[in-house]
Amino acid sequence: MISTVLPTYNRAPMSFVKGEGSWLITDTGDRYLDLGAGIAVNALGHAHPALVQALTDQAQVLWHVSNLYQIPQQQALADRLVEATFADTVFFTNSGTEACELAIKMARKYWSSKGEDRHEIIAFEGAFHGRSTGAIAAAGSEKMVKGFGPLMPGFKHLPWGDHDALRAALSERTAAVIVEPVQGEGGIRPMPDACLKGLRDLCDDTGALMILDEVQCGMGRTGRLFAHEWAGVTPDIMMVAKGIGGGFPLGAVLATENAAAGMVAGSHGSTYGGNPLACAVGAKVMEIVADDGFLSEVLRKGARFRQGLEALVAGHPAVFQAVRGQGLILGLKCVAVSADVVKAGYAEGVLTVGAADNVVRLLPALNIPDEDIAEALIRLERAATRLESQAA
Ligand code: PLP
Repeated sequence: MISTVLPTYNRAPMSFVKGEGSWLITDTGDRYLDLGAGIAVNALGHAHPALVQALTDQAQVLWHVSNLYQIPQQQALADRLVEATFADTVFFTNSGTEACELAIKMARKYWSSKGEDRHEIIAFEGAFHGRSTGAIAAAGSEKMVKGFGPLMPGFKHLPWGDHDALRAALSERTAAVIVEPVQGEGGIRPMPDACLKGLRDLCDDTGALMILDEVQCGMGRTGRLFAHEWAGVTPDIMMVAKGIGGGFPLGAVLATENAAAGMVAGSHGSTYGGNPLACAVGAKVMEIVADDGFLSEVLRKGARFRQGLEALVAGHPAVFQAVRGQGLILGLKCVAVSADVVKAGYAEGVLTVGAADNVVRLLPALNIPDEDIAEALIRLERAATRLESQAA
């Protein structure tokens, strides 16, 4: 039978009807420990009471008004983001992809409004910035762009971690560099702090704008509100999405006043971006996550999980090779086929997410209880044993 849903996903057979914290429950009552969190979206787990309350309170009074009018919930969230970050200004979107589109437009407009012909944007191999025509051109991988050409021109792709290539590529003609401080889809590959600092210096030397894509690694995942904070540098433009809505579609572009200077009235817009419902939820997520006590708990939980994962890897060398990542954006580099590890997890009632480079991603709710971390390790251990016995 032909599916009425466009078959762009290879879907697992489970169908979930309810979520509670770090757990998802199927239509047949089976419980799965969710270490994917909707791919880093459900930052506070499923059905967090404070988020349900914020959403329902707002839903009772006003869902949508156009950006033709003042939106106090949007202003309040923008104020909060500006207060907590490098940024002077915020534009709200509905997704990370839309944030990418604006980041590209903003960088190019910055230069054109100065009357300079600088439009080249440097991006990195293994990157993922979304699925729009602009975002796939930015990422540039064969898998994503094949058949969709001609692509948006003006992107140059460099190997991940090749400093010489970066130094040679960045020039007075570069408009911007776009990079994930921790590559997510690319296989949980953190950019070392020294490299992010070096990149900032190169941008400063050449005038190129630094765009950070913190759609997956931001909003507390690394144990800081945003991943770049570890390196002690700030970007000119930053893309945010996923965790900021806690499951409600919400994204944002944060920028300095200087980087955003070209974006005058009429230069960009969105029908839904920054609507009262999304911003009411986003403000509650920010209130909970942008808190030193909460973030130090993310670090503690991340360290605890990682310690268990290191033991898991050591005990199953035929399945796993290494643990990657920081805080609660973790990856298991596999020896076995990562897709088989994910499947074995399904059989043991634990949800993980595949990534490139034969990595299995672990992106649990940032408030995952310690007992669920312990349970996750038990289930991952069983999944590994299951795979080993299948191979034997
Ligand atoms: N950028 C990064 C780093 C991502 O991980 C993603 C999604 O996985 C995106 C951008 C695109 O976000 P969205 O799927 O919300 O459009």
